[in-house]
Amino acid sequence: MQDGAGAENVRAAGQATLRTDLGALAENWRRLSARAEGAECAAVVKADAYGLGVAPAAFALAEAGCKTFFVAHLSEGEILRRALWDTAAQARIFVLNGLSPAGSRLYVQSALIPVLGSLPEIEEWADFCHADGALHPAALHIDTGMNRLGLAPADLNRACDLMRAFTPVLAMSHFVSSEDMSAPRNRLQIDRFEQARAKLPPMPASLCNSSGMFLEDAPFFDLCRPGYALYGGNPTPGSDNPMRRVVDLSAVVLQVRDIAAGETAGYNARWTAPSRRRLATINLGYADGFLRSGSEGPIAVDVFVGGHYCPIVGRISMDLSIVDISETGPVKRGDRVEILGPNIEIDDLAAQAGTIGYEILTRLGPRFHRVYERSDESVFIQNDTAISSSSM
Ligand SMILES: *Cc1c(COP(=O)(O)O)cnc(C)c1O
Repeated sequence: MQDGAGAENVRAAGQATLRTDLGALAENWRRLSARAEGAECAAVVKADAYGLGVAPAAFALAEAGCKTFFVAHLSEGEILRRALWDTAAQARIFVLNGLSPAGSRLYVQSALIPVLGSLPEIEEWADFCHADGALHPAALHIDTGMNRLGLAPADLNRACDLMRAFTPVLAMSHFVSSEDMSAPRNRLQIDRFEQARAKLPPMPASLCNSSGMFLEDAPFFDLCRPGYALYGGNPTPGSDNPMRRVVDLSAVVLQVRDIAAGETAGYNARWTAPSRRRLATINLGYADGFLRSGSEGPIAVDVFVGGHYCPIVGRISMDLSIVDISETGPVKRGDRVEILGPNIEIDDLAAQAGTIGYEILTRLGPRFHRVYERSDESVFIQNDTAISSSSM
């Protein structure tokens, strides 16, 4: 019988593996921070740090010097506050989705700052602060064109009245299409944000997401809120990626088989071998976030194995995919196949799967062996338990 650690290693060798380079994550934060020209650089770690794991990501970011974090949900804020309790208790945590109805007390209990995005939320926070006898902090979300969350210009006067009951610490808005550098809408949104700010009492302001930080207008204000670029996504689509790679994803070849011309592969026989072909079946499917749309479009998703790019053939299924390895070097059972890594960027995979890199990252599944690396040390973390590799 295998002992616990031995069994763990054997299991890991056969599992699809998601490697997160926390050193590269920290480096990306430092690059963005330098870019912000004196404005504070926060980190957006919503959706479990874009699928990579909020606790290890937030530790690495806090250690690099990040003092302000953004999550989407109250529950994400509570998890992050617990995770940072021992190492970065002073970190500010903003909750982008605003005030959960009747939940005001929970924000205060976990020292979370709601981003208030409508008059009803502002009223609720003001009433709560009044009843609590304390000027608790909150941020204000100003709508400048997204029409999703945020105050309209007509709401601002009433908001100013209500704000006397609490401490407004940030005015923010969000770009609609900052990844399109030439979109006139970017300038329009900056102007609208300036106009709204002029009607509010003086307070720090924030507008930029990752791509916003690369606009020529450089509207950094006091605080930037990058997410995607921290995790290695390209904030400047169409140009070279200025960020370091953070994520490596590999799957494992379960078997290799030769099929004759005219044979089909996968569900519904959507692909027919044009000639004798060699196929590899890998342990990765749509339940792992390898999107089924990647096998439905006109161009198949590529993976990298045997030194070459190889196309997925047939439909991606829940737990498995099939790769045509006829044109690459030798491949055998147990070999690793690159899904994301030095040869395949997040944005490339996304384009082939007909989506955006944000969706690729946030769909990364729960079944991977997850490895977090930091230059010389590496830790293995799964299900919220961290075991340092030295104890394995
Ligand atoms: C997600 C989000 C961000 C981060 O955006 P990226 O494009 O990932 O950098 C910033 N601000 C708000 C309001 C968001 O919802």
